[in-house]
Formats: sequence, structure tokens, C-alpha cells
Amino acid sequence: MSMRIGRRPEALGTGLTSQRVRDRLVERLRANGIHDERVLEAIRTMPRHLFVDEALATRAYEDTALPIGHGQTISQPWVVARMTEALLASNPKKVLEIGTGSGYQAAVLAALGLDVHTVERIGELLRVARKRFRQLGMTVRSKHDDGRAGWAENGPFDAILVTAAAPALVDELKAQLAPGGVLIAPVGQASAQSLLQVRSLPEGGFDEQVLAPVVFVPLLPGVVD
Ligand code: SAH
Repeated sequence: MSMRIGRRPEALGTGLTSQRVRDRLVERLRANGIHDERVLEAIRTMPRHLFVDEALATRAYEDTALPIGHGQTISQPWVVARMTEALLASNPKKVLEIGTGSGYQAAVLAALGLDVHTVERIGELLRVARKRFRQLGMTVRSKHDDGRAGWAENGPFDAILVTAAAPALVDELKAQLAPGGVLIAPVGQASAQSLLQVRSLPEGGFDEQVLAPVVFVPLLPGVVD
């Protein structure tokens, strides 16, 4: 996957990645139930075309998931918006994302001023994502690891987003939530999952809510280069 950040200024001006095209995406998200203006603004200003291969840049502002190599995808903007909206509800500062992928979701969180930690199991994807964070001047802490273990040394987290699907909630991630914190994760079988929002209650225990039907790539064990 190539990443030619040097071409960004021209790319911004051209029709299919222009501000007008991004504005249209935001209007579509709004029409589909995304109302948090902070989230809409972060998506309006984030250059999503820089998070996909140049050959796909012209499709970057469609509300659709796109391939990023290694059998993985950059999430659909609506899903990124919905997860981010759910996460902001807990008024978080420190957040953890499992499944860095292209880095787009992490970049949206960083643009909202959050202290972002992200874990990715595919080394090559993480290297490219880190390059993007650097080029965009964003501070995102990342590590190459199996994210099912979370990132205990840096926890607890006010919010944890899992951007790959597992058959069940991962207990270790629930354990790294601060009191009052939320875990947002797709749970279910390969073809269809429910996006769950799990809140760690200050008085102990958890409260669970289904946000939306979603389709994510699977949460897999171990790491690869
Ligand atoms: N948030 C990403 C979406 C990437 S798709 C984005 O905005 O682009 C899901 C990602 O989760 C893939 O990159 C996949 O490699 C990663 N993943 C799957 N299982 C994982 C695990 N156990 N630990 C860390 N990352 C994992």
C-alpha cells in the first residue's frame, strides 16, 4: 500500500476529495441519525482519502467500508461516527482502540482532543497508520500486539472501542474500563453482529445496550508482521 502524503495539497483540491464532497458525506451521516456536532465536524475535517490507497481515494467520501490490504477494511464512516458518538457520551479523556487498521478511527478520536491509545495485530498496517499520524501531526500512542489483552499498563480507560468482531465480549477489556467507562464492541457471528455498548457502573457491575446491527472483520488471535 502506498502513501504519498506529499501529494495531499493537490488531492484536496480535486473534485472527488474536495471539501464539498466531504460536506455531502456529513449531510448523509446527519440524515442517518448522527447528531453530535463534534463528531460531524471531526469527520468533515478528517482527510479520509489519505487513509486508503491512492487508487481508492476517489471513493473515500462514500459512506462505505473500503479494503486496506491484508484482508482488512477501513470502517464505514457511519459506523465510525456512531461508535464515536457512543464513546463521547461518557465524557472520556483516555481511550483505547483495538484494531488500528488504517488509523482513521484513531485519528478521528485524536481530532476530538482525546488521549488515544490503539493496538493492531498486523505490523504492516500499523507501520502505515503510524506514518499517517506523524504526517497529520497527530499524537496517537500505538502498539503492535494482540489487542484482546488490552493495554493494562496504560489503563484504566474511560472508553474502549473494539473495531473487529468477536463471538463474545472480551472480559480482559471490560476489566480495563474505569468506573463509569464504556466499552463499544461488535459482538456476534462473522456475517452479522450487534454493536454493543457496555457501561462499567460506578457501583460495580455492567450495563449493556445494543446500538445497531453491524458487520466487522473478525477479531483474531496473535500477531503477524
Ligand atoms: N479502526 C480501523 C478498522 C480496521 S478493521 C480503521 O479505522 O481503519 C479491524 C482491524 O482490527 C484490522 O486491522 C485487524 O488487523 C485488527 N485486528 C483484528 N484482531 C485484532 C486483535 N486481536 N488485536 C488487534 N487488532 C486486531
